[in-house]
Amino acid sequence: MDKLIPVTQPFLPPLEAFLPYLEKIWESKQVTNGGPFHAQLEQALCEYLGVEYLSLFSNGTLALITALQAMKVTGEVITTPFSFVATTHALHWNGIKPVFADIDPKSMNLDPQKIEAAITPHTTAILPVHVYGNPCEVEEIERIADTYGLRVLYDAAHAFGVRKHGESILKFGDMSVLSFHGTKIFNTFEGGAIVCKDAKTKRHIDHLKNFGFADELTVVKPGINAKMNEVQAAFGLLQLQYMDEVASARGRIAQRYRDAFEGIEGLILHEVPQHSTRNHSYFPIRITDEFPIRRDELYDALRERDVWARRYFYPLISQFPSYRGLPSASPENLPIASKVSQQVLCLPIYPALDVESQDRVIDVVLTAAHSTQLASALSDE
Ligand SMILES: *Cc1c(COP(=O)(O)O)cnc(C)c1O
Repeated sequence: MDKLIPVTQPFLPPLEAFLPYLEKIWESKQVTNGGPFHAQLEQALCEYLGVEYLSLFSNGTLALITALQAMKVTGEVITTPFSFVATTHALHWNGIKPVFADIDPKSMNLDPQKIEAAITPHTTAILPVHVYGNPCEVEEIERIADTYGLRVLYDAAHAFGVRKHGESILKFGDMSVLSFHGTKIFNTFEGGAIVCKDAKTKRHIDHLKNFGFADELTVVKPGINAKMNEVQAAFGLLQLQYMDEVASARGRIAQRYRDAFEGIEGLILHEVPQHSTRNHSYFPIRITDEFPIRRDELYDALRERDVWARRYFYPLISQFPSYRGLPSASPENLPIASKVSQQVLCLPIYPALDVESQDRVIDVVLTAAHSTQLASALSDE
C-alpha cells in the first residue's frame, strides 16, 4: 500500500520549540483576552506582511462576519461563486443578499466588467476573493467602487504574503480578511485576521470581537466573541520564524510540477499576473476537453494511487441549496465559473511532501495525459 498523500498538511515546527511558549502561558496564567503573545503576533504579522493595522481573530469566517459588521454593509453585495462557502455564508449571517457575478477565465477571480453589470440601487459593497492567492484586478475594482460609492472587502484567506508591485495585496480595498486555518500556508490551528487602514477602525474591530466592550463597563455595540487565544497566538509567533523555509519548499514543489506538466495538451497551468508574487498556497490545474480523460476520471485515477487531490472549487457556492434559488445563481449567469469549476483540480502541495510522493502525483497525471495517445497510436497500426 502506498502512503496516503493529502492535498495539504499543516506545517508544524518541532514540538520542543513550542514548549517554552507554553511554559510562559502556564506561568502568567493569561490564556486569552489580548495577552502578551496576542500583542506580539499582531505586531510581528504587521511587519512580516507589510501592513499597518491588523486585528487577530479566532478564525477567518468570524473575521469576515465581523468585517462586514464594522463596515455597516447592508442590502446586496456582489461576490464570486468560485470560492470556499464561508465567503457567501458571511454575507448570509449578516442578513445581506449575495449577488453572484462571473469570473475571469484566466485569473479565476471576479471579472470587473461582470461586477459593474451586477450593480443595482441596493448594492453597498463588493466581496472579491484572491483565489489561490492570485491577486484580483484591484485597481479596476477600486475604480468601480469609487464610481458607485461602494465598500470593498477582500477575502484574502489564500493570499498570505502576496505582493503586487512590491506592495502587500492586503492594502487594497477597505479591509482584507486572512485565515490561519490548519489548511492554509500560515496557520495557528484555527485563526484569522482583519487588515484595515487606520487606528480608529482597528479599535472598533477590536471592540466588536470582544462582545463590544470598550472598557470594563462600556459596551459600544452588540459584538461577538471572536478573540484569538494565547496558545494560538504563541504558535503563530513560532510558525512565523519558519515562513521563509515553508515558502521555498512550496516553491520547489510547484516548479517540479510545472516542469513536468508544461506543454501537455488540455492541461492548463495557473499563471499569476505580472508584477505579482506567488505564495504557492495551492497548485490548481485545469483539465479541458483536449485532455484524454475528464477531470473526475483523473481525480479517481489519483485516488486509486492514494493521492487525495481536491476539486476546489466544485460545486460552485451558487449551487448549494441555500443559494441556488437566487436569480444571480443560475448557471446561465455564471457560464465561466460553471465551466472552470468542472475543470479544476488542486494537486497536493505542502512542505513535507517528499520527492517520491511528488513523483507519484506526476506519474498519474502523465500516464493519463498519454493514455489515449497511446491507445490511438496502437489502433493506427
Ligand atoms: C479557509 C477560507 C475561509 C474560512 O476561513 P476559516 O479560518 O476556516 O474560518 C474563508 N474564505 C476562503 C476563501 C477560505 O479558503
